[in-house]
Amino acid sequence: MNKQSMLQRTLQVLLITGISISAFSPAYAEDKAEKPKLVLQITVDQFRGDLPTRYADRLGEGGLRYLLEEGIHYNNAHHAHANTETIVGHVTLATGAHPAAHGMIGNIWFDRTTGLTTYNIEDPDYSLLTKGADVDADTEIDPTQKAASSDGRSPMTILTTTFSDELASLTGGKAKIFSVSIKDRGAVSMAGHTGKAFWFSKPANEFVTSNYYYDDYPQWIVDWNARKLPESYANTAWELLHPIDTYLFGDRDDQEWETALGSFGRTFPHEFTTPENPYFSTYLTISPAGDRITTDLAKTVIAEEGLGDDEITDYLGVSYSATDYIGHFFGPSSLESEDNILQLDRTLADLFAYVDKEIGLENTLIVLSADHGGPEAPGYLKSIGIPAEYVSPDEWDTAPAVARIKNKFGIEGQMIEGYDHPYLYLTSDVINDSDIDLAALETTIAEELVAFPAVSYAVPSTSLERGTVPDNGLTRAVLNNYNAARSGNIYVVFNPGWFISNYDGLALAAVHGSPWRYDTYVPIIFAGYGIKPQKVSRRVHTVDVALTLATAIGTKPPSGAAGEVLLEVLGQ
Ligand SMILES: [Zn+2]
Repeated sequence: MNKQSMLQRTLQVLLITGISISAFSPAYAEDKAEKPKLVLQITVDQFRGDLPTRYADRLGEGGLRYLLEEGIHYNNAHHAHANTETIVGHVTLATGAHPAAHGMIGNIWFDRTTGLTTYNIEDPDYSLLTKGADVDADTEIDPTQKAASSDGRSPMTILTTTFSDELASLTGGKAKIFSVSIKDRGAVSMAGHTGKAFWFSKPANEFVTSNYYYDDYPQWIVDWNARKLPESYANTAWELLHPIDTYLFGDRDDQEWETALGSFGRTFPHEFTTPENPYFSTYLTISPAGDRITTDLAKTVIAEEGLGDDEITDYLGVSYSATDYIGHFFGPSSLESEDNILQLDRTLADLFAYVDKEIGLENTLIVLSADHGGPEAPGYLKSIGIPAEYVSPDEWDTAPAVARIKNKFGIEGQMIEGYDHPYLYLTSDVINDSDIDLAALETTIAEELVAFPAVSYAVPSTSLERGTVPDNGLTRAVLNNYNAARSGNIYVVFNPGWFISNYDGLALAAVHGSPWRYDTYVPIIFAGYGIKPQKVSRRVHTVDVALTLATAIGTKPPSGAAGEVLLEVLGQ
C-alpha cells in the first residue's frame, strides 16, 4: 500500500467510524472554535451575479473585496425556479427547497379558499405590534405589498423548515436566531418559524414585528426606534461617494427610462426631504441609507441579544433591499446602481468590522447571495443595440381569443379569474365544471397566449402534473415553481428582455421575475470560519446554500432541501 492509498484508507476508516475528519482538513485551522459561533446569512435583493465584481477595481477594503478575495466565490450560481421574485428567492435560500415544496410560488397568488389575491407572508392572526405601521396604499411603491388585506405577518405560509429552524431544533431552541430587513418578506423568510424577525415600516419610520414573534417589543428595539436614526437623514440627500468622472455611468445620470418619484428625481443629488413628506422613508429605502439603517439594527441585535457569545451557534439573517429598489427605479446599469454598489461595499465593511470585533470573522460563517438577479432597462439595452421591450397586456386585444376559447368549450360565464404574475388563474366555476376537459382548455389558452408577440412560452399546469411538457431547463424551472394549492392554471413567460413594468400606475425602469438568465443569476459567496479562498465556476444553485449550512453546522437537512452540498465550503 503506497502512502497515497494508506491516507485514503485511513480517511475511509475515519468516515465509516464517524470520526470527524475536520481536524485533518486544511480548511479548519486548529485555533478555531469547534463550530462557528455565528452563521451570518446576507441576502442582497436583486444583486445579480455579475454585480459584485463589476466595479471590483474601485472596491474598498473589508467589504465585497474581503468576500471576493478571502471567500469561496461561486460565480455561476442560479436560482432553479422560474418565478424570480423576492419571497421566492429568499425562502429558497433559507430552506434549500424549491418553491414547489416551500410553497412561496410568488410575491402574491390567488387563494382559492378565500377568493382573494394574497400577499405571501400575510397572516391576519398575527398583527403588527405597532399601531399605524401597516402598509399605506397611497404611498407604497411595491404593488405586491398592497395585496395584503390585513397588517398581520408570520412565516406560517412557509411549508418547509429553514436552516435556522434546523439550528433551533438541533440546539433545543438555545440558538439565538434573528433577522432584519427593510422588507417584511426579507426578514420573515430568513428567521424561519423559530427566529425573530424585524422589518421597516415606512409609514411609522420604525422597525416593527408582529405578535407571532413577541407579545411586547424587547426594550432594545424600543430604544433603537427612539433614537430616530431614519429621521437623521432629514434635509440631506443621496450624494455620490466619489467624483462623478470616476464612474462608468458618470455621463449617463439622466436617462428617460429612469423612474422619477416626486422630489427624489432621477439625477444626483437625490433629496430625502423631511419626515413630513409622505415619501421621506420611501426615498431612504431607494438609496444606500436604507442598507445603512438595516446594518445599524443588525449590529444592535448582535450586541443586545449576545449573538455569538457562547459555544452554541447562533444565526443572523440580514437582507439588504436598496439594490432592489434602485434596480427597479433606475436599472442595474445606471449611475445610481453603480454608486449604490460602491456604498453597499462600505456598508458590508462596516458590518464585517463590527462582527470581527464582537465575535471574530474566524468564528463566523458568512454566506452572501441574492434572492434574484434583474433585467436591464429596455431603454438601456436599446441604447446599446439590443432588442428589448416593455409588455402591456392591458392594451392587448384579448377579446377575440377569449371568445374563440369559450365558444369551443361551451363556457358561458367568466373564464379567467385573473393574472397574478406569473400565473393565469381560471375561475373555480370553470375548473369545477366536470363537462370541461381542463387539460384541453389550458392547452388551448396556452396556444392562444403564445400567439401574442410578447409571449415566449405558456405552460399549462395540468401538463406539468401529467409530465407531458418537453423536458428542458425552462420547463424544469416552471415545474420547480409549481405548487398545486397555490399555482395558477397557466405559467406565462415573456420574451427575454421583455417584462411588464406597470402594474399599478408607477412605471418602473426594470422588473425581474422571469426564468431568463439575467434574473436567475446570483452570487453565492461563503467566507469566514474555515473558508479558504477559491473561485468556483461550476454551475451551482441557490437550493444548495441551506443544505451546505446544515451540513457545515451538523444539523439535519431542512425538510424540503433539494440541493447539493457545496463541498468546497467543507474544505473537501
Ligand atoms: Zn427581491
